[in-house]
Amino acid sequence: MRKRFGIDIDGTVTCPTSMIPFINKDFGLNITLSDVTEYDLTKVVDVPPEQFSRWFLEKEAIIYEHSPVASGAEKVLNFWKENHDLYFISARGADLLENTKRWFQQKGISFHHIELIGSHDKVGTAKRFDIDIFFEDKHDNAVMIHEECGIPVLLFNTPYNQDPVPKGVIRVNNWSEADIWVKNWLKK
Ligand SMILES: [Mg+2]
Repeated sequence: MRKRFGIDIDGTVTCPTSMIPFINKDFGLNITLSDVTEYDLTKVVDVPPEQFSRWFLEKEAIIYEHSPVASGAEKVLNFWKENHDLYFISARGADLLENTKRWFQQKGISFHHIELIGSHDKVGTAKRFDIDIFFEDKHDNAVMIHEECGIPVLLFNTPYNQDPVPKGVIRVNNWSEADIWVKNWLKK
């Protein structure tokens, strides 16, 4: 049966390391992903949140353009798209839609819909689109979407999302593990 997949973009379809080279260059640092143990990057960059937000607003379009695809994402997503709806739901601002679509086209990743909601509150969007399963890298989003929508959420393991998770949030290390989990889920 055809399912509707809700999929986060940054750190899920894009590699979670995408921002790091930009941070290192502009803030004179030498961090790696393993240093990023909290989602809030001001903890590792050590600048006031307002300054970091200004920097991010200025740089986000170029960061998104240069983001590498997470390992294996393209293959799995293009396989799923044959039988399921792929709805990408991201906290990016709606003004970045063209930039985002271009990235998907350049990387050869199919989509049925891209919704850029401009905030981290994805529960309402997941409900509105009747999403059956969600894919995330942000811990609190994953837990909230699972609890509020009553759907399984696959959480892509990163150093910044290691807090405990409830049973309906399933940790995976990569897209091939996600594919295996989804295959079993679809059988039920
Ligand atoms: Mg994300």
